[in-house]
Amino acid sequence: VYGDPEIHPQTEDYWGNVNPLGPRACYDEGKRCAETLFFDYHRQHGVKIKIARIFNTYGPRMHPNDGRVVSNFIVQALRGEDITLYGDGEQTRSFCFVSDLVDGLIGLMNTEDDVTGPINLGNPGEFTIRQLAEQIIEQTNSTSKLVHRPLPQDDPRQRQPDITRAKTTLGWEPTIALAEGLRPTIEYFRNEIREMI
Ligand code: UDP
Repeated sequence: VYGDPEIHPQTEDYWGNVNPLGPRACYDEGKRCAETLFFDYHRQHGVKIKIARIFNTYGPRMHPNDGRVVSNFIVQALRGEDITLYGDGEQTRSFCFVSDLVDGLIGLMNTEDDVTGPINLGNPGEFTIRQLAEQIIEQTNSTSKLVHRPLPQDDPRQRQPDITRAKTTLGWEPTIALAEGLRPTIEYFRNEIREMI
């Protein structure tokens, strides 16, 4: 919902910076429209709602071909293929391990009815995409090389959640650092790739 943010890190009261017409628009605006409808139903009909704003999440059971960065890089590294950095690789993301995210979601669902959110859920540890690639090469002992590919249109430059609200409202914060969460994720893809051969 924050698009290519001008506020860093992103707090829940930031309205975002979204191109409504670009190739990411149906994804970004779809989420924004869902939040709008949730609040309208809440106001008009008293429907109980909870809105989580989920930042980049990764872990075992991601689809090897869904095109997201963690799965792409791990699969490329394990196969010894080139690692495709889009743009200069200096754009940032903050990656949350899936079990942390699920704990946050369960915590939010267990709050009192007056807690509607939105609440950011994500790991504030921020990395450039190049750092992610280097970390994955190191942890897989890969011989893969970094190559550059065109940056997709409207690719957000930086993204990091401010999770103050989640900490105070849910008593939640992530516990698994990127290097730690990559280990089981890499193992998962190792097995997946073996089965694909
Ligand atoms: N990315 C990349 N190489 C890839 C896939 C993604 O450099 O093979 C970059 C992409 O341009 C973006 C970041 O990694 O800057 C995260 O992309 P992803 O699609 O995983 O998530 P999102 O852009 O929705 O945060």
